[in-house]
Amino acid sequence: MTALPDRRGFFGEFGGRFVPETLMAALNEFESAYRRLRRDREFRRELDDVLSDFVGRPTPLTEARKFAEVCGVGRLFLKREDLNHTGAHKINNAVGQALIAKRMGKTRIIAETGAGQHGVATATACALLGLQCVVYMGEVDMARQELNVFRMRLLGAEVVPVSSGSRTLKDAINEAIRDWVTNVRTTHYIIGSVLGPHPYPMVVRDFQSVIGREALLQLRKKVNRLPDAGVACVGGGSNAIGLFHEMVKHPSIRLIGVEAGGRGPGPGDHAARFSGGALGVLHGTRSMVLQDEFGQIAETHSISAGLDYPSIGPEHAYLQSIGRIEYHDCNDGLALEAFHRLSEMEGIIPALESSHALGWLMRNPMPNAVVVVNLSGRGDKDVPQVAAHESR
Ligand SMILES: *Cc1c(COP(=O)(O)O)cnc(C)c1O
Repeated sequence: MTALPDRRGFFGEFGGRFVPETLMAALNEFESAYRRLRRDREFRRELDDVLSDFVGRPTPLTEARKFAEVCGVGRLFLKREDLNHTGAHKINNAVGQALIAKRMGKTRIIAETGAGQHGVATATACALLGLQCVVYMGEVDMARQELNVFRMRLLGAEVVPVSSGSRTLKDAINEAIRDWVTNVRTTHYIIGSVLGPHPYPMVVRDFQSVIGREALLQLRKKVNRLPDAGVACVGGGSNAIGLFHEMVKHPSIRLIGVEAGGRGPGPGDHAARFSGGALGVLHGTRSMVLQDEFGQIAETHSISAGLDYPSIGPEHAYLQSIGRIEYHDCNDGLALEAFHRLSEMEGIIPALESSHALGWLMRNPMPNAVVVVNLSGRGDKDVPQVAAHESR
């Protein structure tokens, strides 16, 4: 099961490479560089050094005793990706891909970003490694996420406003692909989640799987056994796959992905791809996509920008189809409740994304179980939004 994707980049019927002909050579180049470098001792040492000395790994595994009691969970451990440099798991992948780009002789990096988190992580990796960085961002998102735009510029990145379409993430992705087609010789495109054409879902998964490897080792030291369950929020799916990848092969571990239930189950009110989506192709990969009866991409809503995407990584679609991972959703209100409870009871302000995993747990007791939740990021970025929401 962990040998997937197959040679053509498929996880069962999901995944693949649905891109213009002009990008095939670049994807092949990236894939062969990655396959070579992941076995290269010097490359792995360089990556390990950056992860420990710059990113701050390993991240702690913190037991949340009071919150566990509120949830009715035996013992609850939080994998503290919030303590990474830049405040979330995204940096694990950004530094990995930037290191590969450098080894491929690329001098320029492009990325797109919705909420700005992936843009900040990429700009940070580029500053560290001396790479030119261009980030595409919809004008609407730029207005909503001013502070992250300023952060990226502080880090030396150029932020390019995208004014086409709905002026949000999907339009920024189209612009980034257009740039890549034009500048593919000098440029690497860093995708921020387990999405996009092969080999991205595999590469991003592998860079994020450090999360689950560390968590299992840390848990063995603390309780000397495997967990009974792993829980993570799912936007594109990179923090969830990062936690689950090492756990999938242990059938005794129940794996739960939590999607954004938003305001409710109506069209446009959520980003729950498994309850509302259908098979489709978006941004180069075949997966579950929220769409209308004509295949037009549907609007989505979530209180957390990082979960607000109409598709989901193809490996998730596959693992759901074979019944290995369960997917549930958590609505805006419950995520907010969890955001408050964890802050008050444990002294940890979680990202609104991670709060969805915690919110689901609050309604689904697992007495006597040892549970690991991936705390994908810190909530500092969300404080102004929560404050505004609550003063309404
Ligand atoms: C971007 C983000 C997510 C969602 O992305 P995944 O690829 O699904 O992990 C979740 N949590 C935080 C803190 C994020 O920044």
